[in-house]
Amino acid sequence: MREAKPFVEWIVKVAQPCNLACDHCYVYELRDHSWRHKPSVMATATMDQLALRLGEYVRRHALPRVRITLHGGEPLLAGPSRIEHLVTAVRRELRGVAECGISLQSNATLLSPLWMDVFRRHAVSVGVSLDGGRDANDRHRRGRNGRSSYDSVQRGLELLRRPENKTLFAGLLCTVDVANPPLRVYEELLAQEPPAVNFLLPHATWEHPPPGHDPVRTPYADWLLAVFERWYTAPRQETRVRLFEDIMDLALGGLARSESVGLADTDFLVVESDGTIELSDSLKATREGAAATGLDVFAHDFDTVARHPEVADARRGGLAALADACHGCEVVDLCGGGLRAHRFHPRTGFANPSVYCADLRVLTSRIRDRVQADAAALLGSAS
Ligand code: SF4
Repeated sequence: MREAKPFVEWIVKVAQPCNLACDHCYVYELRDHSWRHKPSVMATATMDQLALRLGEYVRRHALPRVRITLHGGEPLLAGPSRIEHLVTAVRRELRGVAECGISLQSNATLLSPLWMDVFRRHAVSVGVSLDGGRDANDRHRRGRNGRSSYDSVQRGLELLRRPENKTLFAGLLCTVDVANPPLRVYEELLAQEPPAVNFLLPHATWEHPPPGHDPVRTPYADWLLAVFERWYTAPRQETRVRLFEDIMDLALGGLARSESVGLADTDFLVVESDGTIELSDSLKATREGAAATGLDVFAHDFDTVARHPEVADARRGGLAALADACHGCEVVDLCGGGLRAHRFHPRTGFANPSVYCADLRVLTSRIRDRVQADAAALLGSAS
């Protein structure tokens, strides 16, 4: 069996708790509750050990560049000095060895001028989770007391849009809710002037299908295609949309590095606040312990992790990883069976097409047909 490509991204859970209680969150609101038994913030000794492991792995594989994403819970709950400690330790280990892009994925409610100062000094970019305008966002993204998070997110986004911070704004991450009007959501996201937007399908399995799941009507494909049409036909680029760009790249013969579409190997690992090493967080939507590997940064290097049979199995892309039903599918190169978590059924595990199969088939084939026709027309007019 071929070896998977090396890891190039580490998602680091610097804080376990969150100050919001979004009801679509895979960490707190779905099947896996392992976060309850982990330290609320990552200790500096764990950060130092992680930095050492990163350094040895990057040197061994001569990786030219890697990415670190600071995550949670809400990563800002780790506090500025702890985040500075981790970033400094990682940059020290990788100096002169590899480029290292560091970003943080936040709900933005706790962003402050002090935080922006830390991020400017350490070149840490910030992605913000936002589901649209006030109505769309407050459907799910609320505090534990049920209060809206919208105004405090706005204050954080205003800070990120200031000229001195603008280059640190990585973009917005929006979870699709088909009850929200797609074009209004897109325009509300654009109003924040994001350099990039990504859309996530709500976490779901065959056991717990997504809201409005209907393979005949394909509501998620319809929602996303409405946004795609607006984005694709805009007179000038309004923002980048990762999901659409990935499908377009694949349709034009390129390689997308994505967990959501395509047949690439998964190239990232999650490091929890106690130093344990896990697979994609999205697997937490399937069952308790689904992301766990039993390995940790103190006892194991990342090559040992890569050789672990469950890790190797879970991250390997390609046709062999997919259900028989996907093998003959005309969009398998584009769809790749979707996110692994979305294939889960308690009786058959992951050997299924995605619970979003019908949506993915429509979404990927329409985008493919559109860009291939335009590419052919362009080539025709040039010859
Ligand atoms: S569209 Fe469905 S059958 Fe085709 S690859 Fe995706 S999940 Fe599999």
